[in-house]
Amino acid sequence: MPARLEISSATFRGNVRAVAERIAPSELMLVMKDDAYGHGLNWAAAQGLAVGVRWFGAYEVPAALRIRAAAPEARIFAWATSSREEVAAAIRADVDLGIGAHDYLRRVVAEARSACRPARIHLKIDTGLHRNGIRPEDWDDVVAEARRAEDAGLVRIAGVWSHLGEASDADDDDARSVFTAAGDALRAAGGTPEHRHLTASAASWARPELRGSLGRIGAFCYGIRSADGPDLDGVAPAAALRADVIDSGADGVRIDIGALDGLPSTLAGAAIGDRSARIVRVDRTWTEVSSSEELRPGDSVTLFGPGGVSATDLAEHIDTVGEEILTRISPLVPRIYT
Ligand SMILES: *Cc1c(COP(=O)(O)O)cnc(C)c1O
Repeated sequence: MPARLEISSATFRGNVRAVAERIAPSELMLVMKDDAYGHGLNWAAAQGLAVGVRWFGAYEVPAALRIRAAAPEARIFAWATSSREEVAAAIRADVDLGIGAHDYLRRVVAEARSACRPARIHLKIDTGLHRNGIRPEDWDDVVAEARRAEDAGLVRIAGVWSHLGEASDADDDDARSVFTAAGDALRAAGGTPEHRHLTASAASWARPELRGSLGRIGAFCYGIRSADGPDLDGVAPAAALRADVIDSGADGVRIDIGALDGLPSTLAGAAIGDRSARIVRVDRTWTEVSSSEELRPGDSVTLFGPGGVSATDLAEHIDTVGEEILTRISPLVPRIYT
């Protein structure tokens, strides 16, 4: 069998339930960027719906539209700054838009006017990351403009949100103060947002005081733990990358997955699998593995996932996050759902 990503629906659904219970009464927004962290967007949407997920996070509009096709009733949040055409399509499909810049607010209002249909928006305050987000000094002006558009029936301000740096608890506490002040200013200007959302996986899980009414959670739902983070109660990796031994070499054996299929070539030396194996090197088209046990052609090797190390264990070996290991697995590697 060729290399494949084996994905357990039962494990994923269990994770989603565990996360939802953990963060209640905050509601879960299941984040599905990068094709649901490499697991497959359509599959993840169907599984989420099956366990009662009502909010999905898409990042970009094309993905939001795909989720809409699978989930006609769900709320879907897309926060990438998007083109006029994409904004128009999002308004037609009833997708909630994240607004992190004044210009972008104007674009969305203009598209809502053309569509004769209000856009549902969530205003993003910059709480310190300095990426996308309205700066605190500009907040009141943007809020005033958004409120005028709301009074004119062009937008509905459905939420206020931000993203945490998670560099330290103290930084996140500072971010929370800025976030709270922004929400208060919106309400003082007559806004009535349904939702406040600030936290992703790690802070939603560990810091209840930072949770708003929604938690935007990706990694933990897929069972990807944080770098240097603990294992999580009730949460397990949903995906395993497995490949079969194709032949034996001097250093070890070759398996049929290589850098072109998405394994970073810098992973040499990383421990893998259930047979105390180690990656010797990752070449263009194959991966060489050494093992304390004898591996034979046809034997299957677990690169990561249940039966082996976790994606985050591999990621720590090359100073990145587990999400990146998953999202770098090429779409050419078949996803096998059980
Ligand atoms: C990726 C992302 C999330 C989800 O983060 P996880 O750590 O995977 O839970 C939430 N919000 C935003 C804005 C994101 O980009």
